[in-house]
Amino acid sequence: MPTNPATVPADTSRLRWPVEPAQGGWYTDAERSALREVEAESDDWRTGWKPSAYTDAFEAAFAQSTGAGAAVAFNSGGTALEMVLRYLCLRPHDEVISCALNFVGPHIAVIGQGGRLILGEPEPVTLNLDPADVERRMNPRTRAILVTHWNGAVADLRPFLELAENHPHPVHGPPVVIVDAARACGGITPSGARVGAEGWATVFSFESKKLMTTLGQGGMVTTNDLALAERLRTLRAYGGRAHWGTNQLMSKAQAAVGMVQLSRLEEMNQARIQRAHNRSAALSNVDQLTVPPDLSGGRHLYYRHNLLVAESWAGQGRTELMNRLATEYGVGSIISDPVTYLSHDLIREHTRGQHCPRAEQLAARLLCPVFHPQISPHDEAVICDAICHAAADVARTRP
Ligand SMILES: *Cc1c(COP(=O)(O)O)cnc(C)c1O
Repeated sequence: MPTNPATVPADTSRLRWPVEPAQGGWYTDAERSALREVEAESDDWRTGWKPSAYTDAFEAAFAQSTGAGAAVAFNSGGTALEMVLRYLCLRPHDEVISCALNFVGPHIAVIGQGGRLILGEPEPVTLNLDPADVERRMNPRTRAILVTHWNGAVADLRPFLELAENHPHPVHGPPVVIVDAARACGGITPSGARVGAEGWATVFSFESKKLMTTLGQGGMVTTNDLALAERLRTLRAYGGRAHWGTNQLMSKAQAAVGMVQLSRLEEMNQARIQRAHNRSAALSNVDQLTVPPDLSGGRHLYYRHNLLVAESWAGQGRTELMNRLATEYGVGSIISDPVTYLSHDLIREHTRGQHCPRAEQLAARLLCPVFHPQISPHDEAVICDAICHAAADVARTRP
C-alpha cells in the first residue's frame, strides 16, 4: 500500500476529461449582471469598493438561509477556520480532535493556532469522523472537536455535542464543536437542521471548486455565539482598534455575486444530487466498486462522487484503475482526500506517533473520477461506461 498516494494519475497528457472540475457550480446572467452593476457603481471616487453594505447583506441572507444567529464573511474558508480557532487561545497541550481522512486545511489551522492535533478515525459508510473513536480520544485536555462534513456527506453532530457535554475541560468547560462545512453548503443534518445552525461555529468556503463560489475565493462563519461573531468581525478588520487583527475582509464584488449564488445554491445542489444518483445507478453492477451512500433529504450533496474499490484492490489495484481510466479512456480522477498525515509533511511532524489504520485502509481504496453536474449527458454516459470497462480490465488482472 503506498504511504503517500499521488492525487493525479501518472499520465494526464492524453486526458479527455480533467482530473477534477475547476469550478463546483456555475454562473448565469444574474451573477454576470450583479458583477457589472457593482463594477459600474464602484468605479467612482465618491463610492469606491467599500464592501460593508454588500457584505452585511450577504451575511444577513446567509445567516437566514442556514438558520444561524450570525454569519461573518471572510476572504477564504482557511482564514475563517484560523480565526475561529484563534478565538480559543489554544496552548500547546490543548487538544483538537479531527478526522485523519480530511482536507489538509483544517489540520494546518489547528497547528497554526498552536493546538495539538489529535487524529481520529472515519466511520466506514460516510467516511465522516467516528464518534465512537472520538470518545476514546477525549480527555481533560480536549478543547475542541473539529468535524468535517466530508465531501458533502453531512455528519450527525448530536453524538459529538453529547460527548462534549460529558467530557468538560476543567477550565474551559465542554469542548466546542467546530464544523468544517466547506464542502457541504446548503446541506441538511440528520436532525433536520440546515448545515450551519448546529455546533459552536461552522466554516464555509466559496473557493472556486466549492458548491457555490464568490469569484473563486471567499469564506463564511456561522454561529449562535454572538461574542464569537463580534470578535471575528474585529479579527478580520485590524482588531477593531483594541486587539490584534488583520485584513481578511470579503470584497464587495464577491459579496454581490455571493448573494446571487446563494439564491441559486439549491438549484445547483439538486442538479448535483441528481447527477450523483444517476452515476451511482450506472455503476451499481460493478462488483468491485462501492458507490457513495444514498442519504436522502439533502444529507449528501456529493461534492465528490467518491468510489471505494474492493479491499483486495486497495493501493495498487486502485492506482491501476485510475491509470487505466486516464490512459485508455481519457478520464481523469483524483484521490479526495489522502490521509493528511501521510500527504503533508508539517501534519506528519506534528502528529508523530499517531496512526489511524482504518483511515489509511479506506484512503487506499478511494478514487473520484471527474464529476460535475454540467458534464453533458452524453459525456457522462461515456465516463460511466469507461469506469465499468476499466474496472473489468483491472478485474481480469487481479480477481
Ligand atoms: C476548501 C476547503 C477548506 C478551505 O477553504 P478555502 O476557502 O479554500 O481556504 C477547508 N476545508 C475543506 C474541507 C475544504 O474543502
